[in-house]
Amino acid sequence: MKTIGLIGGMSWESSDLYYQGLNQAVKQRLGGLSSSKVILYNVDFKEIEQLQRSNEWGAAGHMLADIALKLQNAGADCIALGANTMHKVADEIQRNIRVPFLHIADSTIQAIQAAQFKKVGLLGTMYTMEQDFYRNRYQQQGIDILIPNESDRKVVHDVIYKELTVGTFSSDSKKKFIEIIKQLHRDGAEGIILGCTEIGLLVQQDDINVPLFDTTQLHIAQLVDFQLA
Ligand code: GLU
Repeated sequence: MKTIGLIGGMSWESSDLYYQGLNQAVKQRLGGLSSSKVILYNVDFKEIEQLQRSNEWGAAGHMLADIALKLQNAGADCIALGANTMHKVADEIQRNIRVPFLHIADSTIQAIQAAQFKKVGLLGTMYTMEQDFYRNRYQQQGIDILIPNESDRKVVHDVIYKELTVGTFSSDSKKKFIEIIKQLHRDGAEGIILGCTEIGLLVQQDDINVPLFDTTQLHIAQLVDFQLA
C-alpha cells in the first residue's frame, strides 16, 4: 500500500471527511483490519484565509510547497491538497516535489466525462468560481463551466467562510444552496460541481434531483485508487 501525504486544515471540517473517507474506502476494498496509510499535515486555516484575502498567493504557495516537501521526506508517495481554492498554487507544489501531486479537479473531470456532460455548474469560493486557475482545467477538457450570478456567488462564498469552515450547518443556508443549484440547472447546467470541500457537509445528492459532483468524495476515491494500485 502506498502512503498518501495530505495537506489538510482548509478547513479541518473537510479534512475530517478525508480522514474518515480514506480509511473507510481502504477498509471496504481490503476488508478486515485494513486502514489507509496517510500522513496528514493540518495547517492553521486562519493563516491561509488571511493570505487569500490579502492576495498573498505567492507566500501561500511557498508555505504549501514547503509542507508538501516535508510530507514527501516523511515517506509520502503522493501529495494531495484537501481544498479546491488552494489549487491555485498547485503548480508550485508540484515543482517542489518529485512524487505526484493528485489534483482535486482531475477525478471530478473524469466523473463528468463518464456522465457525458458538457456543461456543469460550479459552486465554491469566489476565488474558485471567478478565477481561471480552476475553471480552465475543466474547460481544457471540453467541459463548459457555469457559475452563479454575482449575488448568489456572494452567498455561497460567505456561507463557506462564515459557516461551513467553522462547523455551522444551517437549514436556511442549505435551502439557499439548493435554490442556487436549481437556478444553474435551469440555466443549462447538466450537473453541479461541489467545488469546495465543505459543501458536501451541507448539501448531498439525496437533497436534490440535479446530479452533483462532490470534489471531496471524488478526490478521496482517486487517492485510494492510487494508494492501492
Ligand atoms: N475548503 C474550501 C475549498 O475547497 C474552501 C476553503 C479554502 O479557502 O481553502 O476551496
